[in-house]
Formats: sequence, structure tokens, C-alpha cells
Amino acid sequence: MNREQTLLQNYHEVQTALFSAAQRTGRTADDITLLAVTKYAKDNDVLFFLQRGLIKHVGESRVQQAEKRWLHPDFAKFHPVKHFIGHLQKNKAAKAAVLFDFIDSLDDLETAQILEKNVPQGKTLRALVQVKLTQRETQSGLPLAQARQLATVLKQLARVHVCGYMGIAPQGASETELRELFASVKRAFDEDFPPGAERYLSLGMSEDFEIAVEEGSTLPRIGSSLFAKNLEEV
Ligand SMILES: *Cc1c(COP(=O)(O)O)cnc(C)c1O
Repeated sequence: MNREQTLLQNYHEVQTALFSAAQRTGRTADDITLLAVTKYAKDNDVLFFLQRGLIKHVGESRVQQAEKRWLHPDFAKFHPVKHFIGHLQKNKAAKAAVLFDFIDSLDDLETAQILEKNVPQGKTLRALVQVKLTQRETQSGLPLAQARQLATVLKQLARVHVCGYMGIAPQGASETELRELFASVKRAFDEDFPPGAERYLSLGMSEDFEIAVEEGSTLPRIGSSLFAKNLEEV
């Protein structure tokens, strides 16, 4: 298989797995949005999917790198929904407010206020509060109780529209642990962002997205299963 065939195969495998996971829990494909994490992807691979209309949401974790890519004329003619998924430094927040449609990794009020001040007129910047699912010090996000408090405060902002939670599962967790962690965030999500309004629960990455979708994720973030799997030599 050549590179393009491999990319298509990866895409179809991910979609099939997503939809089966949704169906197993009585949900439909419409309920799940694939967030293609493009941070490590080759430009041509991303363009390949954009040209075919296969990816509609993209995730980047560095502001500068994302700016360089998405303002380039080859990319600027496409308009996927752009998500920032990395740790947002305060000195990059003003730029991020202009470049991105979503900040999925918000965990700090001051950063939210900088975003609010810098969202261009007429634009709504959507935001998810990042929940910390590990004890690891280096992991971004807030413990669930604090994340929920921040979400409550952020609901007062006008241009930043907080509409859900994001979480990164700990590496090496068992399936049982993952299910418990995801389910705890899902319960908080349903209470704090009840169905009816626009809302997103972003759980699951290449390794654990099927479990995450079964536990209620609506916005799994998938990078390596699309852009790296089987692609080393092609
Ligand atoms: C890199 C990254 C992903 C994608 O991870 P894969 O395992 O490659 O699918 C998802 N979420 C965040 C926050 C990331 O930084």
C-alpha cells in the first residue's frame, strides 16, 4: 500500500471503531466528532485529508507551530474547526484567541480572562475545562472538583463560551481504572452541561478512545492512529 492508501485505511479503521463504540452504547455516529490531532502530522498528510473533506476538526498543541501551519496559504484555504489542546501559556493566549475556535485545555481563570479580552469582535471562542485525571505533578488540568468550580466561574464570560470538559487518561491505567475515571467526568459533565445546549466531552486518544466513547466521550482526540500507524516506511 502507498502512503495515501495507508492514510485512508487508518481513517476508515478509526471511523469504524468510533461508530461501533457509539452503537454498543446506544448512541449514533452524529453524537461523536472526530478531533484529528495534527500536532505531529506531516503537512502533506493533513492536506490529504482536508482536500477530501475527511477531517473537520483539528487539534494542535503549540501556538507558534499552529500559526505557522494554518496561516500558510496551502492550509488557509481550508477552514476546519481548530482546537488548541496543549498547555496554554499566558503570553500565548492573545494569539490563541485569534487563531483557534476552541481552547480544549483551559485550567486557569487568568488565562481565560486574557482570552476573553482578545477574542475578535463577533467571534465566540469555545472552551473546555481540562480535568486532571492523574496524580502526576507535570500533568496540566485541575482535579475534578476544582475544574467544576472553574467551569461555573467561566460561565460568566461573554466571548469565551465554556461548554464542556477535556481529560487525558493516565498512561498504563487498566481498563477498569479508565472506565471509572471517564465515568466520573461524564457524571460531572451531565450535571454541569445538561443536554440541550451545545456541549462537548473530550475524552480518549489513540490508545483508549473506544473505552472513552463507550463511557460518553463526544470528542475523542486521535493523532497517531491516523497519522503514524503503519506509515514509517511508506
Ligand atoms: C497528542 C495528543 C493527543 C493525541 O494522542 P495520540 O495518542 O497520538 O492519539 C490527544 N490529546 C492531547 C491533549 C494530545 O496532546
